[in-house]
Order: sequence, then structure tokens, then C-alpha cells
Amino acid sequence: MIKVLRGFRYTVPVEDIPENGLHLVFEDISGVLADAEECRIQDTAKGEVFLHRVDGDVHVNGNVAAVIAIRCDRCLEEYNQEIDTSFFYTLVPSQSVEGKKEIALEKEDMEVSFYNGAEIQIGEIFREQILLQIPMRHVCREDCKGICSGCGADLNIEKCRCRSEILDNPFSVLKELGQAAK
Ligand SMILES: [Zn+2]
Ligand SMILES: [Zn+2]
Repeated sequence: MIKVLRGFRYTVPVEDIPENGLHLVFEDISGVLADAEECRIQDTAKGEVFLHRVDGDVHVNGNVAAVIAIRCDRCLEEYNQEIDTSFFYTLVPSQSVEGKKEIALEKEDMEVSFYNGAEIQIGEIFREQILLQIPMRHVCREDCKGICSGCGADLNIEKCRCRSEILDNPFSVLKELGQAAK
């Protein structure tokens, strides 16, 4: 069964997943990062997920594509990162975590995540998958020079003014002289 949906807040009761699986296509999940601090969706984001029930477990197979705006740690300007990622893992009811841990160890290639045993929040899946693609270090480009901590100049586009400020300001010169005299 295929369903095409708008928005991203969508909850699937596991018992409603048909025998032959449930295919959900989300045409616009732009709101999915609304509460994320370090990034936001820049453009339309799309997601697709195929859910297949195997006993109490749910196999999740999907894809998410988006352009994300991230703030650079060094210069504080936003830059874009394109994300287009496919994922596959098994959702296991969290109340049976102990038993499933053994299963997860037996099948090391099987990626396991948990759900509450009753329903699956699809928006959460996309959110998680997008955030996984964002590196810990946010840098707009490898050679970003960042902002001078002294004068606040964006060193990518302007020169540091620290040195000239000292020369222009007679008081700072006096201060330097005072320190030299001590
Ligand atoms: Zn930067
Ligand atoms: Zn400076």
C-alpha cells in the first residue's frame, strides 16, 4: 500500500501496517528540523519510507533528501549542505530490549533501533537520519579563517583591525607604556 502525504507529523500504529508492508511518500517534510538549534531546512525536503512488519519488529527502509543550512563554527555564516541518504534498520519494541540485544549481537550486520511497541513516529525517523548526516564540526569550507576574537572582523572578507586600533587609540598606547614601566 502506498500513501502520499504532506507535512511530517505522522504516526503509524504498528498493527495498521498491512501484511505486504506500507509505503509512505512525504512530499514536504520541511518542518522536521524546526526545533534543531544548529541547522535548518533550507529548501523543500522529501522523505520516503517502507515499513514491513516481522512479528513485533518493523523493518524500516527509506530515503531522505534535503538541503540543510548550517551555521559555520568559525565565521558564523550559514552554508548549505545537501543531504540525500538511504537507510535500513530494524525497529524493535523497547520493552523487549534485553532479549533483542542478544539478537542484535547474533546478527552484527543488522542495525537495530527501538520504538514503544505500539506506534512509530515517522517524522522522528527523518529527523534522526538528517541529523546523522551533519558532521560534528560545522565549517563552511576547510580554509575558513573565521572571526578575529579581538576586533570581530570576518577574516574571510576583511583584515583584522586589532593592530591599527591599538595604534589609533592613544590610551591603549599609554596603557602599554604603563605596563612597560612596571
Ligand atoms: Zn566559515
Ligand atoms: Zn582583529
